[in-house]
Amino acid sequence: MSPVTVKHLIGGEWTGEPVRERRNPARPDEVVAEIPAGGLAEVEGAVSAAQAAFPEWRRTPAPARGAILARAAELLTARKAEVARDLTAEEGKTLTEATGEVQRSVDILRFFGGEGWRLAGESLPSATPHTHLYTVKEPLGVVALITPWNFPIAIPTWKLAPALVSGNAVVMKPATLVPVSVQHLAECLLEAGLPPGVLNVVHGSGSVVGEALVADERVAAISFTGSVATGLHINEIGSARLARVQLEMGGKNALVVLEDADPALAARIAAQGGFGLTGQACTATSRVVATRGAHDRLVEALLQEAAAWRPGDGQLPETRMGPVVDESQLRTDLSYLEIGRAEGAELVAGGEVESLFLEPVVLTGVAPSMRVAQEEIFGPVIGVIEVADFDEALAIANDSQYGLSGGIVTNDLRAAMRFADEAEVGVVKVNRPTTGLDLNAPFGGMKRSSSGTFREQGNVAVDFYTRLKTVYLGT
Ligand code: NDP
Repeated sequence: MSPVTVKHLIGGEWTGEPVRERRNPARPDEVVAEIPAGGLAEVEGAVSAAQAAFPEWRRTPAPARGAILARAAELLTARKAEVARDLTAEEGKTLTEATGEVQRSVDILRFFGGEGWRLAGESLPSATPHTHLYTVKEPLGVVALITPWNFPIAIPTWKLAPALVSGNAVVMKPATLVPVSVQHLAECLLEAGLPPGVLNVVHGSGSVVGEALVADERVAAISFTGSVATGLHINEIGSARLARVQLEMGGKNALVVLEDADPALAARIAAQGGFGLTGQACTATSRVVATRGAHDRLVEALLQEAAAWRPGDGQLPETRMGPVVDESQLRTDLSYLEIGRAEGAELVAGGEVESLFLEPVVLTGVAPSMRVAQEEIFGPVIGVIEVADFDEALAIANDSQYGLSGGIVTNDLRAAMRFADEAEVGVVKVNRPTTGLDLNAPFGGMKRSSSGTFREQGNVAVDFYTRLKTVYLGT
């Protein structure tokens, strides 16, 4: 496979010379992409281009904006196999996972294409005679989208699509590790008829390109997905200048397993949530909280699952779990195995490493206060916590600074309903993995997982990208 030449997209022009490369995490000799590194000049150019393109784009009827997204969906469908292959090569996830992710992008583009017909305000009765009172949803202007590496095309799409259909002009900064998928997406949108300057993409480091975008007074809003530390930093700068800021961040997602659950099913659900996507999902299951009656049978079944989730090259059809994304993430994963052991947890499966392939890990004897039970690891590591009963399980599931997703495996309807009611998370799953979302439903977290103000995905996603104007029209 020859490397993809990645370019910035500024004012409709592809620019920039490659200065670094991204290698396939499964095949260290394979250069996947050659990438430019933008600086302040590129950010300045991109924001200026977006600012210049905004008035015309805003005036374009919303259904016509939506039609461009729908056309882009068809173009992306036509190159789905190529994009999925590149996504696997740059991020490492399996081809099945990558193909599903590209299809997700297609569906998001279609969904928000349709939203172009539904961007409605409301009409209200006025207390003043002969007055028509109504609200309209207006775009914000230039918005910056800053995305992480773990969903190289789905996350950019679930920010871009509502931003564009609402009439905003966009500057996007993809994660440094995964520049290729966004390039495919941008190409499809341009080919679908998106006017020059409405979408700009600047590659480069978060500390240079990201910082400059967040600080730029012309950027009206910043939507960010990534780590808590970066999110809080962005919030400080963006909010201080009254930009609208949306943050979706980490998770420490718990799956509660009660004694009435089928242990094999519970283990399958836990493994899918914990080892799928190499555990590199914000909604990944990283804590399994099992009641005393469930614990031993569950651990036994989980060991069988772990043995079946062998890591390998994501391009190969037999591979169920891809490599860790890079050396730095691998070091983090391995350091937590040491931390867990030092704290008294027992490593009962996995942990062996070859290159970036990490055998999926099960830790037992995990206590709720341990760092492995409190801190996001972002790798294929499940810590099992044994508890007395459902009440304790619920309390421990909620004993976290994070609140993204949480699940329960049980046939006890009353327990399931109470969990749904009392779990301090943005997404509750009953008898389903903590990962996996429908694109038409709102998504976001509580506590330190999210800024909590606006949700992403579903039709409510446009709320972040629009503001309401109220009009009193006297006749
Ligand atoms: P990071 O926070 O390191 O990076 C996210 C993005 O922010 C990248 O594009 C990064 O650029 C950029 N960035 C870094 N520093 C700055 C800065 N000072 N100013 C502006 N932008 C900056 O997260 P990761 O990419 O490592 O992603 C993993 C994290 O994302 C995990 O915590 C995970 O839970 C979370 N996540 C949350 C999701 C959710 O919806 N809640 C979904 C997916 C992931 P660069 O790549 O150049 O460093």
